[in-house]
Amino acid sequence: MTDRYAVIGHPVAHSRSPRIHALFAQSVGHAIEYGLILGEPGHFREAVDRFRAAGGRGVNVTVPFKLDAFELASERTGRATQAGAVNTLAFDGARVIGDNTDGAGLVRDIVRNRGFAIAGKRVLLMGAGGAARGVVLPLLDEQPASLAIANRTADKAQALAQRFATHAIGVRGGGYDAFASERFDLVVNATSASLARQLPAIPEHAFAPEALAYDMVYGEAARPFLMHALGLGASAAADGLGMLVEQAAESFWLWRGVRPPTAPVLERLRADLARAAGSSTDEKIP
Ligand code: NDP
Repeated sequence: MTDRYAVIGHPVAHSRSPRIHALFAQSVGHAIEYGLILGEPGHFREAVDRFRAAGGRGVNVTVPFKLDAFELASERTGRATQAGAVNTLAFDGARVIGDNTDGAGLVRDIVRNRGFAIAGKRVLLMGAGGAARGVVLPLLDEQPASLAIANRTADKAQALAQRFATHAIGVRGGGYDAFASERFDLVVNATSASLARQLPAIPEHAFAPEALAYDMVYGEAARPFLMHALGLGASAAADGLGMLVEQAAESFWLWRGVRPPTAPVLERLRADLARAAGSSTDEKIP
């Protein structure tokens, strides 16, 4: 029987995961099926149990179920435990292994794909939701000079920073104003503001020369933030499509034991987005 995987979310119809995993499977010669599961909030476990009973081998988990997936896992990787959220479940007999591949995806896209070393850099992470939580440790593992977490609701950023209080690299959290006098070399927008066509209250002088602005949101939705960042002096801007592909590759590796090449898949997705937006693929943004 062909191994079956799926992404579960609510909503889920927009997900690009089926396309990404089909391309991965094709490129490494694996036969898999990858589908969509529209989960009902409050009924995550039932949906996963049904999929497992029907032979499912693993799921990707998206909004709003990452905490449910964390609870459901019978064992968790260190990075999932640290994040307090799970975006990938692998089923192995009675075992349900929970992982969080978002942070690895972000770091790989920034460091490998963009050639931007995080080591020694001053990093500003905007947002303190599930996505931000998942990337703090992988960012710290790159040995930045410092990490500041700014959030609209300041105490959430403070609480997130507090979780890393004993880390060798100083992690500070607060509202956007708390960092108004500082410059950063890397600014990561881990808020969902771009999806609502809004901008986080990023301080005007946040960008150091040569700074990279990164929005986890991808495609057209990321454009206003990235344009704004360039206007404030960022020297480069990137959307989250590469993160999406890289976190998926990490899931694929967990499930299949093979790391698929990501560059051709990223190129195909970028072309899909450009076609959908009716534009060319060689624009500076995203
Ligand atoms: P959450 O709902 O958990 O958190 C949302 C965060 O955004 C909170 O910190 C919230 O602040 C902040 N926020 C929302 N609206 C605004 C606004 N108008 N101005 C300032 N801050 C705002 O979402 P997630 O953390 O799960 O996801 C965040 C984003 O990351 C999503 O857009 C998601 O699509 C993207 N993402 C991309 C991935 C990729 O692979 N490219 C992977 C995972 C996520 P407050 O606490 O004050 O409400």
